[in-house]
Amino acid sequence: RIVYLNGEYMPEEEAKISIFDRGFVMGDAVYEVTSVLGGKILEFEGHMTRLERSMRELEMTCALTREEWLAIHHELVARNNIDEGLVYLQVSRGNAGDRDFHYPPEGTPPTVVLYTQAKPNLANDPKAEVGIKVISLPDLRWHRRDIKTVQLLYPSMAKMAAEAAGKNDAWFVEDGAVTEGSSNNVYIVKGNKIITRQLSTDILHGITRASLLTYAAEAQMEIEERPFTIAEAQEADEAFFTSASAFVMPVVEVDGVAVADGKVGRVAKRLREIYLEESLKRAV
Ligand code: PMP
Repeated sequence: RIVYLNGEYMPEEEAKISIFDRGFVMGDAVYEVTSVLGGKILEFEGHMTRLERSMRELEMTCALTREEWLAIHHELVARNNIDEGLVYLQVSRGNAGDRDFHYPPEGTPPTVVLYTQAKPNLANDPKAEVGIKVISLPDLRWHRRDIKTVQLLYPSMAKMAAEAAGKNDAWFVEDGAVTEGSSNNVYIVKGNKIITRQLSTDILHGITRASLLTYAAEAQMEIEERPFTIAEAQEADEAFFTSASAFVMPVVEVDGVAVADGKVGRVAKRLREIYLEESLKRAV
């Protein structure tokens, strides 16, 4: 695989960074993930807007322009022959020279890494046909979940716990309500209403979420933004999650309780179709 590191393209074996990189030592890095369908990037502008916001919130600077980011995405997609897959982008605060809690001096270059993952069945994911099962776990993450940092240890633990329980993923609960999934935003459907938690620092502001809510509103669907409980999800007509890498994914079981008849719902199925169609139209 050809990857990008700090202005250069190289085989992944040759891409090396310092042991004092802040991303490694302090988890001091932000990232983005975009999907590639038909060799084109989905939701590019949205992901770049969020990247810029994450960096601003952490007082990180990176001189690359949107045109340059897009050119790197395209170059990696081309060099790695990606038709369907993902592009990961990571920016750390760079090499601090030695271990130190303080940020390195201004002007220290960030470490910029991009790489692709081929995923031949991204759009036709068989899991979307049957839906996935989730367990709930307390949300033990920090309280700035709106910043997309690489501090992914708890989500990683949660996915391991879900797998150990024979399920696919975990939904996080705080103060009695669901915040989000381990790596996705979550929704329930009651009648014709789509219910999802409102934006705050409690959740990541999903790019898929933003687009999906726009497309759903255009399709005259009713949306309510508020927290919901696990019990509500278990009693809902449908449940699903969204993320850049899974689009719209039906959830058919929550903590061992089937959602409705335990089959993929009509609304989730329709939303997945609408999402794929609309986001592909805007792909670059
Ligand atoms: N919440 C969390 C915690 C996530 O990690 C992700 C995936 N990056 C999302 C939500 C979904 O965001 P997006 O639609 O931008 O992929």
